[in-house]
Amino acid sequence: METEQIKQDVLDAAKQLLRTGLVEGTSGNLSARLSDGHVVMTPSSLDYEAMTLDDLVVVDLEGKVLQGDRPPTSEKALHLACLRAHDDIGSVIHSHAMYASMFAITHQPIPCVIEEFDIYVGGEVKVANYELTGSDELGEEVARHVADRGAVLMANHGLLTVGRNIGDAMKVAQLVERTAEIIWGARALGEVVPLPDDTLKRFAPIYKMMRKR
Ligand SMILES: [Zn+2]
Repeated sequence: METEQIKQDVLDAAKQLLRTGLVEGTSGNLSARLSDGHVVMTPSSLDYEAMTLDDLVVVDLEGKVLQGDRPPTSEKALHLACLRAHDDIGSVIHSHAMYASMFAITHQPIPCVIEEFDIYVGGEVKVANYELTGSDELGEEVARHVADRGAVLMANHGLLTVGRNIGDAMKVAQLVERTAEIIWGARALGEVVPLPDDTLKRFAPIYKMMRKR
């Protein structure tokens, strides 16, 4: 895909994140891999509403700025660690989605109890160990969890989702947040019933297949 189109998709997704309440103010950040192997990402500390294409930053996989007047997001290590570790990941979205964050601060995984969750996320969303925000250690810890999963919770922080492109990563972010809200409510009603083992076995390969496609 053309670089300009990917940049436009990142900008559109950033504004969609804001509109749908997964981020507020300047929190959260997005990135996508370009066809030349470099990475376009959102800048540090800029309101999504005011953000334009010129504000996006292009960096190499080590984080060196190649294009753009602004510094890249302070959480760039998250994005670069995931993109370096997994060739099949083309985009990373980090958000402070409210319901997912409730699971993240209680260090509880989001269980895989809805069929579509298994297909699009690949199983339960685990909690990565706590590491300081912005650190390389946090990047490495998070990247470890998205080898075969579309999402990971960052302990005491928020949510990170990945996809082949920004559209996929966004779809996973919306699905994980919605599911976190459903489970939070379901637990107030009673016991959450797990999916049958047979169903989990049947769906398990589908996410992996879609990701490699
Ligand atoms: Zn964050």
